[in-house]
Amino acid sequence: MAKTALIFTPKYYVHDTGPDHPETPRRLKSIMRELDKLDPHLVGGKLERVAPNPAGPEDLELVHTKEHIQLVKHVCEQGGGLLDLGDTVVSPKSFDVAMLAAGGAKKAVDLVVSGEFRNAFALIRPPGHHAGPYYAMGFCLFNNVAMAAAYMIKNLGLTRILIIDIDAHHGNGTQDIFYNSRKVLYASLHENPQEFPGTGFVDEVGEGAGLGFNVNVPLPFKVSDNEYLHAFDDIIVPIAEQYNPQFILASIGYDGYFRDPVARLNLSAHCYRSIFEKILNLASTCCENKFTAVLEGGYNIRQLGKLVVSTISKMANFPYFTKNADRAYPPDLKVEERAKKTIEIVKEVQSAFWNLQL
Ligand SMILES: [Zn+2]
Repeated sequence: MAKTALIFTPKYYVHDTGPDHPETPRRLKSIMRELDKLDPHLVGGKLERVAPNPAGPEDLELVHTKEHIQLVKHVCEQGGGLLDLGDTVVSPKSFDVAMLAAGGAKKAVDLVVSGEFRNAFALIRPPGHHAGPYYAMGFCLFNNVAMAAAYMIKNLGLTRILIIDIDAHHGNGTQDIFYNSRKVLYASLHENPQEFPGTGFVDEVGEGAGLGFNVNVPLPFKVSDNEYLHAFDDIIVPIAEQYNPQFILASIGYDGYFRDPVARLNLSAHCYRSIFEKILNLASTCCENKFTAVLEGGYNIRQLGKLVVSTISKMANFPYFTKNADRAYPPDLKVEERAKKTIEIVKEVQSAFWNLQL
Protein backbone atom coordinates (compact mmCIF):
# COMPACT_ATOMS: atom_id res chain seq x y z
CA MET A 1 0.00 0.00 0.00
CA ALA A 2 1.28 3.45 -0.88
CA LYS A 3 2.70 5.52 1.97
CA THR A 4 1.94 8.86 3.58
CA ALA A 5 4.51 11.55 2.76
CA LEU A 6 5.63 13.95 5.47
CA ILE A 7 7.08 17.05 3.90
CA PHE A 8 9.59 18.63 6.24
CA THR A 9 13.00 20.28 6.45
CA PRO A 10 14.78 21.62 9.57
CA LYS A 11 15.24 24.83 7.55
CA TYR A 12 11.68 25.66 8.63
CA TYR A 13 13.14 26.40 12.08
CA VAL A 14 15.14 29.31 10.65
CA HIS A 15 12.16 31.67 10.24
CA ASP A 16 12.75 33.65 13.43
CA THR A 17 9.75 35.49 14.89
CA GLY A 18 11.57 36.60 18.05
CA PRO A 19 11.03 35.63 21.68
CA ASP A 20 7.47 35.21 22.98
CA HIS A 21 5.88 35.00 19.53
CA PRO A 22 3.34 32.15 19.42
CA GLU A 23 4.33 31.13 15.87
CA THR A 24 7.73 29.87 16.97
CA PRO A 25 10.11 27.19 15.60
CA ARG A 26 9.32 25.28 18.80
CA ARG A 27 5.99 24.31 17.23
CA LEU A 28 7.59 22.18 14.52
CA LYS A 29 10.26 20.95 16.93
CA SER A 30 7.56 19.57 19.22
CA ILE A 31 5.95 17.77 16.27
CA MET A 32 9.25 16.28 15.11
CA ARG A 33 10.07 15.17 18.68
CA GLU A 34 6.79 13.28 18.85
CA LEU A 35 7.34 11.74 15.42
CA ASP A 36 10.81 10.61 16.48
CA LYS A 37 9.27 8.67 19.37
CA LEU A 38 7.25 6.45 17.02
CA ASP A 39 8.23 2.81 16.86
CA PRO A 40 9.90 2.34 13.45
CA HIS A 41 8.45 -1.18 13.25
CA LEU A 42 4.97 0.26 13.62
CA VAL A 43 5.26 3.06 11.09
CA GLY A 44 7.90 1.63 8.75
CA GLY A 45 6.47 1.31 5.27
CA LYS A 46 3.65 3.70 6.18
CA LEU A 47 5.32 7.09 6.62
CA GLU A 48 8.18 8.64 4.74
CA ARG A 49 9.84 12.02 5.21
CA VAL A 50 10.40 13.99 2.04
CA ALA A 51 12.37 17.24 1.78
CA PRO A 52 10.73 20.15 -0.08
CA ASN A 53 12.16 22.26 -2.88
CA PRO A 54 11.64 26.01 -2.73
CA ALA A 55 8.72 27.38 -4.75
CA GLY A 56 9.69 29.61 -7.63
CA PRO A 57 8.42 33.17 -8.14
CA GLU A 58 6.23 31.82 -10.96
CA ASP A 59 4.47 29.58 -8.41
CA LEU A 60 3.81 32.42 -5.96
CA GLU A 61 2.64 34.69 -8.75
CA LEU A 62 -0.25 32.29 -9.32
CA VAL A 63 -1.85 33.74 -6.16
CA HIS A 64 0.16 36.84 -5.16
CA THR A 65 1.08 40.12 -6.84
CA LYS A 66 4.72 40.67 -7.79
CA GLU A 67 4.66 43.70 -5.48
CA HIS A 68 3.71 41.61 -2.45
CA ILE A 69 6.43 39.05 -3.16
CA GLN A 70 8.99 41.83 -3.63
CA LEU A 71 7.93 43.57 -0.45
CA VAL A 72 8.39 40.44 1.68
CA LYS A 73 11.79 39.86 0.07
CA HIS A 74 12.82 43.47 0.59
CA VAL A 75 11.86 43.61 4.29
CA CYS A 76 13.82 40.38 4.89
CA GLU A 77 16.86 41.70 3.03
CA GLN A 78 16.75 44.83 5.16
CA GLY A 79 17.12 42.69 8.28
CA GLY A 80 13.46 41.85 8.96
CA GLY A 81 10.59 43.55 10.77
CA LEU A 82 6.81 43.76 10.74
CA LEU A 83 4.83 43.16 7.55
CA ASP A 84 1.48 44.32 8.86
CA LEU A 85 -0.03 46.34 11.66
CA GLY A 86 -0.32 43.24 13.81
CA ASP A 87 2.30 40.62 14.56
CA THR A 88 3.38 39.19 11.21
CA VAL A 89 7.09 39.44 11.67
CA VAL A 90 10.02 38.38 9.47
CA SER A 91 13.73 37.81 10.02
CA PRO A 92 16.51 37.99 7.37
CA LYS A 93 16.01 34.36 6.31
CA SER A 94 12.19 34.35 6.39
CA PHE A 95 11.74 34.93 2.66
CA ASP A 96 13.77 31.81 1.83
CA VAL A 97 11.91 29.78 4.45
CA ALA A 98 8.55 31.00 3.14
CA MET A 99 9.56 29.90 -0.37
CA LEU A 100 10.36 26.47 1.10
CA ALA A 101 6.99 26.39 2.89
CA ALA A 102 5.09 27.13 -0.34
CA GLY A 103 7.36 24.65 -2.12
CA GLY A 104 6.51 22.09 0.58
CA ALA A 105 2.79 22.39 -0.17
CA LYS A 106 3.52 22.10 -3.89
CA LYS A 107 5.69 19.02 -3.36
CA ALA A 108 2.96 17.44 -1.22
CA VAL A 109 0.27 17.74 -3.91
CA ASP A 110 2.67 16.63 -6.63
CA LEU A 111 3.47 13.41 -4.75
CA VAL A 112 -0.23 12.62 -4.29
CA VAL A 113 -1.41 13.55 -7.80
CA SER A 114 1.35 11.43 -9.32
CA GLY A 115 0.27 8.46 -7.19
CA GLU A 116 3.74 8.10 -5.67
CA PHE A 117 2.21 8.53 -2.20
CA ARG A 118 -1.26 7.75 -0.94
CA ASN A 119 -1.61 11.12 0.79
CA ALA A 120 0.68 13.78 2.23
CA PHE A 121 1.06 16.13 5.18
CA ALA A 122 3.10 19.30 4.65
CA LEU A 123 4.63 20.09 8.05
CA ILE A 124 5.62 23.61 7.13
CA ARG A 125 5.96 27.12 8.50
CA PRO A 126 5.34 29.99 8.23
CA PRO A 127 1.63 29.22 7.86
CA GLY A 128 -0.34 30.65 4.93
CA HIS A 129 -4.13 30.90 5.01
CA HIS A 130 -4.33 34.56 6.12
CA ALA A 131 -2.05 35.79 3.31
CA GLY A 132 -4.03 37.28 0.43
CA PRO A 133 -3.20 38.37 -3.11
CA TYR A 134 -1.32 41.49 -2.02
CA TYR A 135 -0.94 41.23 1.73
CA ALA A 136 0.67 39.31 4.59
CA MET A 137 -1.39 38.84 7.73
CA GLY A 138 -1.79 36.73 10.86
CA PHE A 139 1.75 35.21 10.86
CA CYS A 140 1.31 34.28 7.16
CA LEU A 141 3.61 35.57 4.39
CA PHE A 142 2.51 33.53 1.37
CA ASN A 143 -0.60 31.40 1.02
CA ASN A 144 0.82 27.87 0.81
CA VAL A 145 -2.46 26.00 0.41
CA ALA A 146 -3.85 28.45 -2.17
CA MET A 147 -0.63 28.29 -4.16
CA ALA A 148 -0.78 24.48 -4.18
CA ALA A 149 -4.38 24.60 -5.44
CA ALA A 150 -3.59 27.19 -8.12
CA TYR A 151 -0.58 25.11 -9.17
CA MET A 152 -2.79 22.03 -9.63
CA ILE A 153 -5.26 24.05 -11.71
CA LYS A 154 -2.61 25.68 -13.90
CA ASN A 155 -0.06 22.89 -14.26
CA LEU A 156 -1.94 19.65 -13.64
CA GLY A 157 -5.24 20.61 -15.28
CA LEU A 158 -7.52 20.11 -12.27
CA THR A 159 -10.85 21.96 -12.30
CA ARG A 160 -12.48 21.02 -8.96
CA ILE A 161 -10.42 21.32 -5.80
CA LEU A 162 -11.98 21.34 -2.36
CA ILE A 163 -10.12 23.26 0.33
CA ILE A 164 -11.34 22.40 3.81
CA ASP A 165 -10.04 24.84 6.42
CA ILE A 166 -10.24 23.65 10.03
CA ASP A 167 -7.86 26.18 11.56
CA ALA A 168 -9.66 27.94 14.41
CA HIS A 169 -9.49 31.18 12.39
CA HIS A 170 -11.13 32.00 9.09
CA GLY A 171 -8.72 31.68 6.16
CA ASN A 172 -9.45 35.12 4.77
CA GLY A 173 -6.54 34.96 2.32
CA THR A 174 -7.66 31.70 0.74
CA GLN A 175 -11.24 32.97 0.48
CA ASP A 176 -10.03 36.20 -1.09
CA ILE A 177 -7.86 34.44 -3.68
CA PHE A 178 -10.61 32.10 -4.92
CA TYR A 179 -13.72 34.20 -4.26
CA ASN A 180 -14.52 34.46 -7.99
CA SER A 181 -13.60 30.91 -8.93
CA ARG A 182 -15.54 27.66 -8.99
CA LYS A 183 -12.38 25.67 -9.59
CA VAL A 184 -11.82 25.87 -5.85
CA LEU A 185 -14.56 25.36 -3.30
CA TYR A 186 -13.40 26.91 -0.05
CA ALA A 187 -15.15 25.57 3.07
CA SER A 188 -14.14 26.77 6.52
CA LEU A 189 -15.18 25.98 10.08
CA HIS A 190 -13.93 28.69 12.42
CA GLU A 191 -14.51 30.71 15.55
CA ASN A 192 -16.44 33.98 15.58
CA PRO A 193 -14.40 36.08 13.11
CA GLN A 194 -15.60 39.53 14.24
CA GLU A 195 -12.33 40.59 15.91
CA PHE A 196 -10.02 38.59 13.69
CA PRO A 197 -9.68 38.33 10.75
CA GLY A 198 -12.92 40.30 10.18
CA THR A 199 -14.16 38.01 7.41
CA GLY A 200 -15.68 34.55 7.43
CA PHE A 201 -19.36 35.36 7.88
CA VAL A 202 -22.22 33.20 6.64
CA ASP A 203 -23.25 35.49 3.79
CA GLU A 204 -19.81 35.48 2.13
CA VAL A 205 -20.73 32.90 -0.51
CA GLY A 206 -18.48 33.79 -3.48
CA GLU A 207 -19.04 36.09 -6.44
CA GLY A 208 -19.36 35.86 -10.22
CA ALA A 209 -18.25 32.42 -11.44
CA GLY A 210 -17.45 31.61 -7.81
CA LEU A 211 -20.96 32.29 -6.50
CA GLY A 212 -21.96 29.37 -4.27
CA PHE A 213 -18.41 28.04 -4.02
CA ASN A 214 -17.49 29.60 -0.69
CA VAL A 215 -18.81 28.15 2.56
CA ASN A 216 -18.26 29.77 5.95
CA VAL A 217 -19.36 28.23 9.23
CA PRO A 218 -18.55 30.82 11.93
CA LEU A 219 -19.11 29.04 15.24
CA PRO A 220 -19.39 30.76 18.61
CA PHE A 221 -16.37 30.98 20.90
CA LYS A 222 -15.98 27.97 23.22
CA VAL A 223 -17.87 25.59 20.98
CA SER A 224 -16.85 22.00 21.73
CA ASP A 225 -16.68 18.72 19.84
CA ASN A 226 -20.36 17.86 19.34
CA GLU A 227 -21.58 20.86 17.39
CA TYR A 228 -18.26 21.26 15.59
CA LEU A 229 -18.58 17.71 14.26
CA HIS A 230 -22.28 18.25 13.49
CA ALA A 231 -21.37 21.29 11.41
CA PHE A 232 -18.94 19.17 9.46
CA ASP A 233 -21.45 16.36 8.91
CA ASP A 234 -24.47 18.53 8.13
CA ILE A 235 -22.81 21.15 5.91
CA ILE A 236 -19.33 20.26 4.68
CA VAL A 237 -19.97 16.58 3.87
CA PRO A 238 -23.08 17.01 1.68
CA ILE A 239 -21.67 20.05 -0.14
CA ALA A 240 -18.37 18.26 -0.74
CA GLU A 241 -20.14 15.18 -2.09
CA GLN A 242 -22.18 17.31 -4.49
CA TYR A 243 -19.12 19.31 -5.60
CA ASN A 244 -17.38 15.99 -6.23
CA PRO A 245 -13.81 17.30 -6.02
CA GLN A 246 -10.87 15.81 -7.88
CA PHE A 247 -8.58 16.60 -4.94
CA ILE A 248 -9.03 17.59 -1.29
CA LEU A 249 -6.59 20.01 0.27
CA ALA A 250 -6.95 20.86 3.93
CA SER A 251 -5.68 23.83 5.89
CA ILE A 252 -5.08 22.16 9.22
CA GLY A 253 -4.75 24.34 12.28
CA TYR A 254 -4.69 22.79 15.72
CA ASP A 255 -5.50 26.07 17.46
CA GLY A 256 -9.09 24.93 18.04
CA TYR A 257 -7.70 22.68 20.78
CA PHE A 258 -9.20 23.69 24.12
CA ARG A 259 -5.84 24.56 25.66
CA ASP A 260 -4.59 26.67 22.76
CA PRO A 261 -3.29 30.07 23.91
CA VAL A 262 -4.27 31.96 20.73
CA ALA A 263 -7.76 30.83 19.70
CA ARG A 264 -10.96 30.32 21.68
CA LEU A 265 -12.57 27.02 20.70
CA ASN A 266 -12.89 24.03 23.02
CA LEU A 267 -12.07 21.06 20.80
CA SER A 268 -10.40 17.89 22.01
CA ALA A 269 -7.70 15.72 20.47
CA HIS A 270 -10.44 13.19 19.79
CA CYS A 271 -12.30 15.81 17.73
CA TYR A 272 -9.25 16.31 15.51
CA ARG A 273 -8.98 12.60 14.89
CA SER A 274 -12.70 12.41 14.06
CA ILE A 275 -12.42 15.31 11.63
CA PHE A 276 -9.47 13.62 9.94
CA GLU A 277 -11.46 10.41 9.61
CA LYS A 278 -14.30 12.36 8.05
CA ILE A 279 -12.01 14.16 5.60
CA LEU A 280 -10.33 10.87 4.66
CA ASN A 281 -13.76 9.30 4.12
CA LEU A 282 -14.71 12.17 1.83
CA ALA A 283 -11.46 11.77 -0.10
CA SER A 284 -12.19 8.07 -0.43
CA THR A 285 -15.77 8.67 -1.67
CA CYS A 286 -15.03 11.58 -3.98
CA CYS A 287 -11.51 11.47 -5.30
CA GLU A 288 -9.75 8.12 -4.89
CA ASN A 289 -8.21 9.23 -1.57
CA LYS A 290 -6.39 12.18 -3.12
CA PHE A 291 -5.76 14.26 0.00
CA THR A 292 -3.08 16.61 1.23
CA ALA A 293 -2.98 18.32 4.61
CA VAL A 294 -1.09 21.59 5.04
CA LEU A 295 -0.17 22.86 8.50
CA GLU A 296 -1.56 26.25 9.52
CA GLY A 297 -1.86 27.25 13.23
CA GLY A 298 -1.69 25.44 16.57
CA TYR A 299 0.19 27.04 19.44
CA ASN A 300 -0.01 24.78 22.46
CA ILE A 301 3.59 23.58 22.37
CA ARG A 302 3.04 20.90 25.01
CA GLN A 303 0.28 19.16 23.06
CA LEU A 304 0.87 20.14 19.45
CA GLY A 305 3.17 17.20 18.70
CA LYS A 306 0.64 14.72 20.06
CA LEU A 307 -2.27 16.37 18.23
CA VAL A 308 -0.47 16.33 14.91
CA VAL A 309 0.86 12.78 15.21
CA SER A 310 -2.54 11.47 16.26
CA THR A 311 -4.03 12.86 13.04
CA ILE A 312 -1.11 11.63 10.93
CA SER A 313 -1.77 8.18 12.42
CA LYS A 314 -5.21 8.32 10.76
CA MET A 315 -3.71 9.28 7.40
CA ALA A 316 -1.00 6.60 7.52
CA ASN A 317 -3.13 4.05 9.36
CA PHE A 318 -1.00 3.16 12.38
CA PRO A 319 -2.15 2.96 16.01
CA TYR A 320 -1.42 5.95 18.27
CA PHE A 321 -2.85 6.86 21.66
CA THR A 322 -2.74 10.25 23.38
CA LYS A 323 -3.85 9.78 26.94
CA ASN A 324 -3.19 13.28 28.22
CA ALA A 325 -4.49 15.23 25.26
CA ASP A 326 -7.62 13.14 24.93
CA ARG A 327 -9.90 14.65 27.52
CA ALA A 328 -12.90 16.37 25.97
CA TYR A 329 -13.86 19.78 27.25
CA PRO A 330 -17.30 19.74 28.93
CA PRO A 331 -19.76 21.43 26.56
CA ASP A 332 -21.40 24.72 27.54
CA LEU A 333 -25.06 24.14 26.71
CA LYS A 334 -25.79 27.77 25.86
CA VAL A 335 -22.86 27.84 23.46
CA GLU A 336 -23.95 24.57 21.88
CA GLU A 337 -27.46 26.02 21.36
CA ARG A 338 -26.00 29.08 19.63
CA ALA A 339 -23.84 26.82 17.47
CA LYS A 340 -26.92 24.80 16.45
CA LYS A 341 -28.62 28.02 15.34
CA THR A 342 -25.57 29.06 13.32
CA ILE A 343 -25.52 25.67 11.59
CA GLU A 344 -29.18 26.10 10.65
CA ILE A 345 -28.52 29.58 9.25
CA VAL A 346 -25.54 28.37 7.20
CA LYS A 347 -27.67 25.54 5.82
CA GLU A 348 -30.42 27.98 4.84
CA VAL A 349 -27.98 30.30 3.07
CA GLN A 350 -26.09 27.51 1.32
CA SER A 351 -29.29 25.72 0.28
CA ALA A 352 -29.56 28.37 -2.48
CA PHE A 353 -26.66 26.49 -4.11
CA TRP A 354 -26.64 22.95 -2.68
CA ASN A 355 -29.15 20.31 -1.62
CA LEU A 356 -29.07 20.39 2.16
CA GLN A 357 -31.45 18.83 4.63
CA LEU A 358 -33.18 21.73 6.37
ZN1 LIG B 1 -5.42 30.03 13.48
